[in-house]
Amino acid sequence: MTATVIDGKAFAARVRGQVAEHVARLKAEHGIVPGLAVVLVGEDPASQVYVGAKGRSTVEVGMASFEHKLGADTSEAELLALIGRLNRDPKVNGILVQLPLPKHLDSDLVINAIDPGKDVDGFHVSNVGLLGTGQKAMVPCTPLGCLMMLRDHHGSLAGMNAVVVGRSNIVGKPMAQLLLGDSCTVTIAHSRTRDLAAVCRGADILVAAVGRPEMITGDYVKPGATVIDVGINRIERDGKAKLVGDADYESCAAVAGAITPVPGGVGPMTIACLLANTLTATCRANGLPEPVGLTA
Ligand code: NDP
Repeated sequence: MTATVIDGKAFAARVRGQVAEHVARLKAEHGIVPGLAVVLVGEDPASQVYVGAKGRSTVEVGMASFEHKLGADTSEAELLALIGRLNRDPKVNGILVQLPLPKHLDSDLVINAIDPGKDVDGFHVSNVGLLGTGQKAMVPCTPLGCLMMLRDHHGSLAGMNAVVVGRSNIVGKPMAQLLLGDSCTVTIAHSRTRDLAAVCRGADILVAAVGRPEMITGDYVKPGATVIDVGINRIERDGKAKLVGDADYESCAAVAGAITPVPGGVGPMTIACLLANTLTATCRANGLPEPVGLTA
């Protein structure tokens, strides 16, 4: 079997198009321009690239982008003061603090200082609780993007066996909650899971969020299963820099029914969902109907 490729790049372009249309309507009918503030502390090169890409995408869909670049020696008090100002700023509907923060800053404290209604990353403990109890939450962007692609590919996910490999707060755990919310039977696997390959072979939906290049190989995949590869790993092969996922694409695609490639799978959906979340936050803050199909 050769798997169907789930084209995250094309899907993300569609989502950004939907967001842009909705933003144009908000502007024309209500005079509202959604605004996203991104806060970067320090000079981490990967974070700078992500923040630049987020700012450009925000402007492309017609939203206002506010970038706050702070020095690596910024104190916790200074950062919290900025978040306080952004919380109170009516032009700012979404706030994202780029992680990881420098070591002297307490990420949990900083994230939990964000107004939960503006927490477009969905990492605030209130949003985690709302998602866990099946209430209206801001949902973390990467798992939301995975869920959208799965719903698009399968329609209903009810009754499917899903295995999520990875239990991080930003990917694994919220992914599992979302799949449970769509009535999958969910297993969360991690570094202490026994016979991981056998566990994974029970999955109709296999989500790899491990952070280990090409660890999930074809012998982990049930024939016909859908593989969602969240991993982004920069490796060197044959003297060249290469981006690979947590799944070994060739061997998995030979067994799976559908698979997301890296690059061009989950990655583009993450930024698209950040824009979708900013739009959702704006609609909620203004008591307007939420965009259809862009939330969990
Ligand atoms: P973390 O390092 O926070 O979590 C990794 C998880 O994988 C942990 O729960 C860990 O288990 C588990 N794990 C590690 N090794 C093994 C193993 N040998 N067998 C089974 N489980 C294992 O990573 P993240 O969740 O932040 O990210 C996961 C991947 O997704 C990374 O490649 C990252 O780059 C990528 N990513 C991609 C995004 C995108 O936009 N596409 C966004 C965010 C992340 P334990 O808890 O037991 O240690």
